[in-house]
Amino acid sequence: MRIGVLALQGDFARHARALQKCGSRPSAIEVVEIRKPEQLEDIDGLIMPGGESTTLLKLMDAWGFVPALEKFHAGGKPIFGTCAGLILTARDVANPAQFSLGLIDVGVERNAYGRQRESFEAAGTAVLDGRPVPIEMVFIRAPRIRRVGPGVETLARHGDEPVMARQGSVLVATFHPELTDDPTVHEYFCRMVKEAKRA
Ligand code: GLN
Repeated sequence: MRIGVLALQGDFARHARALQKCGSRPSAIEVVEIRKPEQLEDIDGLIMPGGESTTLLKLMDAWGFVPALEKFHAGGKPIFGTCAGLILTARDVANPAQFSLGLIDVGVERNAYGRQRESFEAAGTAVLDGRPVPIEMVFIRAPRIRRVGPGVETLARHGDEPVMARQGSVLVATFHPELTDDPTVHEYFCRMVKEAKRA
């Protein structure tokens, strides 16, 4: 199984490390840093990491990533967007409005925690494959999911608010699971990729 991490900007290296940990169990995972759209053809799933979404958009545009990502998604291959990666995959973006791929029917507000709580850690519970599991969450200038469309399943909340969600082959989180030692969320995404590959 080959999983790519979009390596244009942001904390892609930590995602690669988290994926390698999943690979030590059942079947080995090859992690590929994706810098050119053609590379998407050779992978089974993709992580879009946190970083700065405006910068990522500029780089994606410059390299012609938008049509390639649309094709990747249309082919049913799983995508996991964390933080800025979620902002890029969402249907609507506010504060300010900006282009997004619209691969998951959620509305997000950028930098939505204000100055006091720009970055913080929290423990929470996700419901994955029907079972509640504890997860660690690191929020860094995180967006908030303000709207969840009818086809979207909320997998984790912080307080009352959704912080992790899934619609079909697209998984998103407002936090950074790659900055913790907790492999739960990456393992879940690896299972999504495995299942999509088998289908
Ligand atoms: N604040 C960033 C943005 O709006 C996202 C931050 C992150 O990815 N940690 O793009």
